[in-house]
Amino acid sequence: MSKPKKYVYAFTDGGRDMAELLGGKGAGLAEMSGLGLPVPPGFTVTTEACRAYLATGSEPPELGIEVAQHLAALERATGRTLGSADEPLLVSVRSGARFSMPGMMETVLDIGLTDDSVAGLARATGQDRFAWDSYRRLLQMFGHTVLGLDPALFENLITRHKEECAVKDDGELDAEQLRSLVGEYKALIREESGAEFPQDPAEQLQQAIRAVFASWNSERARLYRSRERIPDDLGTAVNVQAMVFGNLGPDSGTGVAFTRDPATGAPGPYGDYLPDAQGEDVVSGVRDALPIDALRRELPAVYAELARHLGTLERHYRDMCDVEFTVERGTLWILQTRIGKRTAEAAFRIAYDLLDERRVREDTALLRVDGTALNRLMFPRFAQRPAGAPLARGVPASPGAAVGEVVFDSRSAVRRHEAGARVILVRRETTPDDLPGMVVAEAVLTSRGGKTSHAAVVARGMGTVCVCGADTLTVDPAARRLTTDSGIVVCEGDTVSVDGTAGTVHLGALPLVDSEVRRTVETGEREGALGDAVLRALGHADKAARLEVRANADTPADAALARRLGARGIGLCRTEHMFLGERRVLVEDMILAGDDDARSAALRALLPLQRDDFTGILRAMDGLPVTIRLLDPPLHEFLPDLTELSVRAATDDGADPRTRELLTAVRALHEQNPMLGLRGVRLGLAVPGLFATQVRAIAEAVVRRLRDGGDPRAEIMIPLVADATELRLARAEAEQVIADVARESGVSVDCPIGTMIELPRAALTADRIAPYADYFSFGTNDLTQTVWGMSRDDAEASFFPLYLDRGVFATSPFESLDEEGVGVLVERAVTMGRAANPRLQTGVCGEHGGDPASIRFFHRAGLDYVSCSPFRVPAARLEAGRAALGADGTNDTR
Ligand code: PEP
Ligand code: MG
Repeated sequence: MSKPKKYVYAFTDGGRDMAELLGGKGAGLAEMSGLGLPVPPGFTVTTEACRAYLATGSEPPELGIEVAQHLAALERATGRTLGSADEPLLVSVRSGARFSMPGMMETVLDIGLTDDSVAGLARATGQDRFAWDSYRRLLQMFGHTVLGLDPALFENLITRHKEECAVKDDGELDAEQLRSLVGEYKALIREESGAEFPQDPAEQLQQAIRAVFASWNSERARLYRSRERIPDDLGTAVNVQAMVFGNLGPDSGTGVAFTRDPATGAPGPYGDYLPDAQGEDVVSGVRDALPIDALRRELPAVYAELARHLGTLERHYRDMCDVEFTVERGTLWILQTRIGKRTAEAAFRIAYDLLDERRVREDTALLRVDGTALNRLMFPRFAQRPAGAPLARGVPASPGAAVGEVVFDSRSAVRRHEAGARVILVRRETTPDDLPGMVVAEAVLTSRGGKTSHAAVVARGMGTVCVCGADTLTVDPAARRLTTDSGIVVCEGDTVSVDGTAGTVHLGALPLVDSEVRRTVETGEREGALGDAVLRALGHADKAARLEVRANADTPADAALARRLGARGIGLCRTEHMFLGERRVLVEDMILAGDDDARSAALRALLPLQRDDFTGILRAMDGLPVTIRLLDPPLHEFLPDLTELSVRAATDDGADPRTRELLTAVRALHEQNPMLGLRGVRLGLAVPGLFATQVRAIAEAVVRRLRDGGDPRAEIMIPLVADATELRLARAEAEQVIADVARESGVSVDCPIGTMIELPRAALTADRIAPYADYFSFGTNDLTQTVWGMSRDDAEASFFPLYLDRGVFATSPFESLDEEGVGVLVERAVTMGRAANPRLQTGVCGEHGGDPASIRFFHRAGLDYVSCSPFRVPAARLEAGRAALGADGTNDTR
């Protein structure tokens, strides 16, 4: 018989390797208990119990019994009883999923307070006011979280109460006034929920646990998960823990501390501290926290103990950790630890500092950073020192530079973003309800809160620029404006610039400059801890990688940039831009040509121009492969627009014979669905001399480079092949041209010929195609479009948001490869292609070639290279290395 399920674990029973079952918080509490850190005792209800509850709508029958047993043990351990009229035990009930979801789920504090036990708490602490304040907090939280009542109802009551008592702050209400407020809150609960606030503490506990289970499926939790790619079926654990109080006077307090600075990675301790405050006050940013040094000054012994525990945790976890702590009358308690979230900059710095400190090995350091983080660092920042004083200064909570128009609520942010605007979300402080706006914002700016406020934590996790606690700003969401201390008014729609690295806000759009990390990667010059860490990571990744990284580049300048950024060749040189601009008229001539002679003449005029283009690119990539794709887009893209021509034809220009000819050609070439029309190899076969001219230009450029002593490695690529015969015909023509050029020049030209695999039929018949191909390059853009049967531009402009929202896509399949659909075709085509042609090379040149998760897939699928835009090359190199070390993407949610 299998062992009966266990749904509840005491903190002393678990450990860090049980995060799936106990959630991150539960596993951390258990691990700390094991390390002997001062953790208030408690127990964890497993994610399995949550899943059972969500699946059936009720708790597993054993759960109630197990909770009761663990509660009894907790009562024995603390020597106190839940709900007792005399020194009662109070507990907190907190969510804690496998992956951190800050502020997305529910928490209920002070469970166990009742009409009886409130007096016991007052006696035990000697603080009447504190006891009644705790009770009213419980009623408020319970009413909102457990009973689903509108929090504004409670807020209105307390506001009215303060007016009646002629006080401004909650803190000024005395015990008697709070006692009367408690009466009003209880009446409110009775009227609104139809039942009394439960006076049985076990009942309170049961309902609170249920509410936390249910909060897994709240709207904001779902949105957060879909954005962070956290699976929807994990469920949350629930931690029940003896309450400790940070609001019992000046020798009490609460805070958050990191072992290193989560923004820069500099060695710590680092964090925020709020004296005489409770629980969520720091994280919610309602009161401005002090730097952790305030604790060192006020309670030096407690600070020393905290620093010691931080050291223990970092040595134990071998990574930067953060903790939430509470000081209750001079006694330190650690309430939570986890591997700390960090900025991209800090991730690199910390990983390589830990390597130098011999805490981690080189492979681990590389696995601790990722391409997503590196990509963030490649982006521009503001030019040095903007002229004039900033509008405001705040806490530099998440670095980077952003320019956009100001909006004052989440809904406007989303609306303006959808209309194409870049927005800066400005709030007094953010709550989880602001998440949709934060997701679309370029930057988040708040007037309250510190580095660990909700705004800061969430923005950092998303890589969004954030300045918080800019307390000289008066933010007025109702009037849709903010006012600075010098009286400058900024209204909704005005442009501001936010510097998340310096913590400043400026009026207008400041000019941006390139990132230092990008310069470091380009020049290889080590400057500072960050640049050094990035170069070390890239060096190690290059050594470890099996996948080669090439770039998509079609000009010598882009090719040179890509090479500086570490590309090992060009995986896709699109030739269409070589047919635009001034050359358009030559292309028009080719299209309008009435006979072979006229067409040949037009193509002959294009030949030397193309030869120069290719020569330049081959020079920039000397010694490395350059895959040149023959013309792909439909010809009408090179002709004037139909409407424009029709207008021209209807006016004076209509007399011009060329206008009429062009109009006829445009009409003839018009297609209902050009994406599936006359393009790619079809064009090559249908327009005599087109591909031959391009191949000649390539072969002659090779000859020229060889004569100049270069090492040209041109490869010819045929696009949009669906059938082996198409490639056979196109290849035969290309080989003939190459042979002609070799004969004419007396120089031997070696130019591999391959094909893109970007149609499902090509993938499915890869074994027939491979004998005619020296390589396959997966065009995953078109392959995704054709596998899904949707045009990217049309889909993104219409139903994409709906599909993301409804969970059809976790992420866009155009951003991250759809492994279940498109990926299967890629794997199959590689296997079949190699079986038919063992020398076949394989790569990918769609956008996915620069996406970290997709790169890991391509590594597993056994491809030889990925190719992406030059700026993404460093991140792709990093991911190629990480993929070879078995990276599984767990860092991506950090
Ligand atoms: C592709 O389809 O993936 C590709 C690289 O080609 P393009 O994006 O130019 O159609
Ligand atoms: Mg394509």
